[in-house]
Amino acid sequence: MRMLKNNLGYPRVGAHRELKKASEQYWQGKTGRQELFAAARKIREENWKLQQEAGIDLIPCNDFSFYDQVLDTSLMLGVIPQRYTDVLAKNSQNSEIDLYFAMARGYQKDGLDITAMEMTKWFDTNYHYIVPEFTADQQFRLFSDKVFEEFNLAKQITGSTPKPVLIGPVSYLLLGKEKEAGFDKIDLIKKLVPVYVEILTKLKAQGAVWVQLDEPFLVMDLTQKEKDAFTYAYKEINKQCPEIKTLLTTYFENLNDISLTVNLPVNALHIDLVRAPEQLNDVLVQSPEKLILSLGVVDGRNIWKNDYIRSLGHIKKAIAVVGKDRVMIAPSCSLLHTPFDLDLETTINPEIKNWMAFAKQKLNEVNELDKILRDDNELLHNNLKAISSRNLSKLIHKQEIKKRVEAITEADANRASQFIARQKIQQDNFKLPLFPTTTIGSFPQTDDIRQLRSRLKKGELTTEQYDAEIEKATIAAIRWQEEIGLDVLVHGEFERNDMVEYFGELLDGFLFTKNGWVQSYGSRCVKPPVIYGDVSRPNDMTVRWSSFAQANTEKLMKGMLTGPVTILQWSFVRDDQPRAETTNQIALAIRDEVVALEQAGIKVIQIDEPAIREGLPLRKADWAAYLDWAVKAFRISASGVKDETQIHTHMCYSEFNDIIEHIAQMDADVITIETSRSQMELLEAFSDFKYPAEIGPGVYDIHSPRVPTVEEMVSLLEKAAAILPVENLWVNPDCGLKTRKWPETQTALENMVKAAKAAREVF
Ligand code: GLN
Ligand code: ZN
Repeated sequence: MRMLKNNLGYPRVGAHRELKKASEQYWQGKTGRQELFAAARKIREENWKLQQEAGIDLIPCNDFSFYDQVLDTSLMLGVIPQRYTDVLAKNSQNSEIDLYFAMARGYQKDGLDITAMEMTKWFDTNYHYIVPEFTADQQFRLFSDKVFEEFNLAKQITGSTPKPVLIGPVSYLLLGKEKEAGFDKIDLIKKLVPVYVEILTKLKAQGAVWVQLDEPFLVMDLTQKEKDAFTYAYKEINKQCPEIKTLLTTYFENLNDISLTVNLPVNALHIDLVRAPEQLNDVLVQSPEKLILSLGVVDGRNIWKNDYIRSLGHIKKAIAVVGKDRVMIAPSCSLLHTPFDLDLETTINPEIKNWMAFAKQKLNEVNELDKILRDDNELLHNNLKAISSRNLSKLIHKQEIKKRVEAITEADANRASQFIARQKIQQDNFKLPLFPTTTIGSFPQTDDIRQLRSRLKKGELTTEQYDAEIEKATIAAIRWQEEIGLDVLVHGEFERNDMVEYFGELLDGFLFTKNGWVQSYGSRCVKPPVIYGDVSRPNDMTVRWSSFAQANTEKLMKGMLTGPVTILQWSFVRDDQPRAETTNQIALAIRDEVVALEQAGIKVIQIDEPAIREGLPLRKADWAAYLDWAVKAFRISASGVKDETQIHTHMCYSEFNDIIEHIAQMDADVITIETSRSQMELLEAFSDFKYPAEIGPGVYDIHSPRVPTVEEMVSLLEKAAAILPVENLWVNPDCGLKTRKWPETQTALENMVKAAKAAREVF
């Protein structure tokens, strides 16, 4: 027998985001189901053929999704919240897709107004899934036939036997949320497993051989009860469906409980050897006889070329211990998290491009590893050449930068004085009123502004013309902020396309792709920058715009930067050095910018870190180490300035309870956070002196065009004042306003200033 080449999943938006375009047109009512289904079918056909050509043996099906694979699973299992049954009733004909989109996006039609289901992050990726909703009397039944239809389609297209992909029953429950009190979702496992048995039995009858069951929760912290659920579910499945071959897949971390996992009665187990190579030895030693191991050696989370020597090391070791018949090779996780095809990139420096691999290239890597094992030395040689060219390249390695990071001291991460002393100085200098008002940075990015940028790119505008237009927009925003009486102004970020891309384009060590899209949620894709080399800041980045803005007002103008952790989190990062090292390089670049802003006369500087919580490792035991370097990186970026300069930071909606100490250790003078949607509940984390500095809890939700009333904002401020010392409170919206339109923004901010003034009367 030969070694099987396995693939867990493939990007599904299409090489040119065809699915995005098709679904958005369908949502707008411009096209019908037929067009949508045709576009979706084409993507699947192409994906399957591509995988077949790349020699993949276990080609996934049902990894395609119109929106999200967790939502697909909810539909498959009939987990449809009560509020959508109306949609179902109104569209009785062929309406599954409309019900599905209603669950994903809400439904405002035919006199109905139904909210969408909640969305949250898929483990530590930037992919977001639709959270299943469970009730105490939750029932499960086979509802959607998508998996069976896709199996048939894939069989027909490939002429071979595809491998259906399902989210496993335990992870499915753990991904969901109890919508009422009085039960534990994990107890639903007994009701859920019979539906899985029914599905597997049906797939078997259709001719399926292997079925992939994704159980990523096997790498998470697990309670005994959750572990028991795994044992129960897989014993039951094995008992009821002994003929189907089960491939249990885990990824993103090492197995939480190796002994539990390897002893589940499945035919094969997939482990992630990119994120967690250290688990290989134990898994090999502890695996019972007959368990096949799928080795995830090709990185499904990043865009770098595989280091064949390292991967072959793992594969050969596994073969030596368990034998060739019990080894499969695969990418580490679904390729969903990588862009489609590197061949489409025509502008990347060829030297750097030769170090990279997107989804299509990664399939080929799996194939090549197999060929090398069968003695293809030339492939190995070529890979070695690429890998060593990267190890030594002058494009990447800059001694001055490495030395500067090495020389970072504790002092570099500390402001001159403690917060209390700084606060006194800043208060004396700024003389701001109680409840000072400000905004988070961006103002509406209108079509006009966006068009300026695209015309500049196309060469239809000169830089001078573009700058003049941006200056106009900035001045208008300043005048208007002065008129309504805001205390600390912003320049509006009109010159920025995106808060990470803008900096990436100005820093050395970053590159940008033309088509490197990755699905973030539904039809939304992001194109993360690639950090390929040591990062440095050849020139000032924001000084021009901030000092221009400051020169046009007597009021305080806030400088606006993106923090090192957020820049790291929202990029594809280097895999040849620890994340902490890369973050420190970015931190030093931001630090220099902060100092340059101070020298240019900017007295208030905000360093946004909305992604700090996203960076938390999957397992609690690893949190402290991450928070240590992440917080320190922020401090390095913020600590080059004098006590007189006020450092702000900003974070979007997140739970702060379990990391409040670390947020405090960031030692910003002011933090602005998103709290309005939680009615200031999130602010509780900052109560009882757990947070020493000043805080601006957002008083209105910027995600909707709704204009908040003065009264409701006053009442939120009163709530905040009951939790925190009044002297420490700021007044601001939840986040930046770039996605809003001007009219609602203007009224909302006018009301906000009125609310602050009203609050000043009370206190
Ligand atoms: N300064 C940024 C803005 O206002 C912050 C955005 C964010 O927190 N995501 O747009
Ligand atoms: Zn925000």
